[in-house]
Amino acid sequence: MRSGDLKKYGDILERKKEELIAAAPARTPTAEPGSKSGDWIDQSSQESDLHVRLALKQTDSKLLRAIDEAIHRIEQGTYGICMECENEIASARLEAVPWTRVCIDCKAKQRG
Ligand SMILES: [Zn+2]
Repeated sequence: MRSGDLKKYGDILERKKEELIAAAPARTPTAEPGSKSGDWIDQSSQESDLHVRLALKQTDSKLLRAIDEAIHRIEQGTYGICMECENEIASARLEAVPWTRVCIDCKAKQRG
């Protein structure tokens, strides 16, 4: 892979990482101003909201780790190489999922 491309993917990864960190709650408010707890809001819908948020956070932390690993691979000079078959990962796939570790063929095999 050309160094210009490496820099491009590195920039994408760094930006995505900043995005995730910025989206993560820096503080947890104990009570919202003007909280309406206890009135007509359906309790079960509040609970499902919470589940969605927890799931998102877990996905984000996995993604963050994958991004960190990809940045590390750029530093090591192994970025863009499939961890399974050691072929080059197609640039179209890297554009779509720049933190990927495997090529599309190996990804398909993992699913099968
Ligand atoms: Zn592969």
